[in-house]
Amino acid sequence: MKQIPKDAIKCLDKGFVRLVDSMGGDDAIIQAARVSYGKGTSKISQDRGLIRYLMRHRHTTPFEMVEFKFHCKMPIFAARQWVRHRTANINEYSLRYSEARDEFYYPDLEHIQFQSALNKQGRKGKVPTELKQKVLDYFKEISTRSFSIYSELNEAGVARELARAILPVNLYTEWYWKNDLHNLLHFISLRSDSHAQYEIRVYSDAMAESVKKAAPFAWEAYQDYVVKGMRFSRIEQNLFEKKLPVRVVDDMLEDLSYQITATLHYNKPREEGDLFQLYQKQGGSDSESDFKLKWDSGEIELGNVRELREFISKLKSLKK
Ligand SMILES: Cc1cc2nc3c(=O)[nH]c(=O)nc-3n(C[C@H](O)[C@H](O)[C@H](O)COP(=O)(O)OP(=O)(O)OC[C@H]3O[C@@H](n4cnc5c(N)ncnc54)[C@H](O)[C@@H]3O)c2cc1C
Repeated sequence: MKQIPKDAIKCLDKGFVRLVDSMGGDDAIIQAARVSYGKGTSKISQDRGLIRYLMRHRHTTPFEMVEFKFHCKMPIFAARQWVRHRTANINEYSLRYSEARDEFYYPDLEHIQFQSALNKQGRKGKVPTELKQKVLDYFKEISTRSFSIYSELNEAGVARELARAILPVNLYTEWYWKNDLHNLLHFISLRSDSHAQYEIRVYSDAMAESVKKAAPFAWEAYQDYVVKGMRFSRIEQNLFEKKLPVRVVDDMLEDLSYQITATLHYNKPREEGDLFQLYQKQGGSDSESDFKLKWDSGEIELGNVRELREFISKLKSLKK
């Protein structure tokens, strides 16, 4: 396919990602998690909370109920990295069966950089314009020359499956690629990351657009718990346990007691007179007058009760 389809997202100079078909979205995740049929009667906020819970606790199978099928066109060297993601179903344009097309990837000048000294798998720094132009000229020279030899071999009747081996890896290929949301998010987490090669990152970012539309709650949870969430190693936790002043941990625990109280009250309003007791039940240790001052300040943030309680138990483990 030489032209970029109207409903596709253009990637690199001649490539694209196009969502061909999809099955399900946030609803399908909820449905599977509740092992029920239909939407049920739950509120939107409960659905969001459940998806966030599943993502936080890596309860992943409900996310596998959502499927995406993409038509993608990318340089062979990007496909080489892409194909390492083994959980997808792929059907690729065959150069044994069909003739190759004269379509090669030529990088934008701004993406021609030096080898990074720090990251052995990365690029960095500004390349002088003359050298950039030279790189681009070489790309074009080798592509044009190899394609003309390929065409000559083709015309002479040499088998296409052999003649193709003369073509470089910046040749464009196409495939249909189908995967479920859990594995697609895994792909995106690796390939939209700043450590991934630019040329595959643009495809990963393009596919992410479909996820955002089909499963906005799952996407939000993925951002909060996977992309922007942090895990600490045992060594790092040991450091926290040793170095983090107990007073700081206690301050955070105190804040959490307020947040849980406010959230419980928001979810199911209590009598004014019962609030202090509710706060104490959540582990709050301020005096009643301090509690009233803070409560009236209106500065207490709401959260998710279950998540806040999980955070409390993590913080408490740091005080051991
Ligand atoms: C920045 C970066 C640099 C890389 N550099 C290199 C490199 O130098 N050399 C290189 O060879 N590769 C490299 N890779 C590829 C990398 O090692 C993985 O092969 C690729 O990212 C696919 O990851 P995956 O196996 O988790 O994904 P998938 O194949 O999609 O698998 C998803 C998950 O399913 C499970 N799974 C799937 N198949 C199996 C199986 N057969 N057995 C057990 N569990 C399975 C695993 O839990 C896996 O995490 C690089 C990847 C990145 C992102």
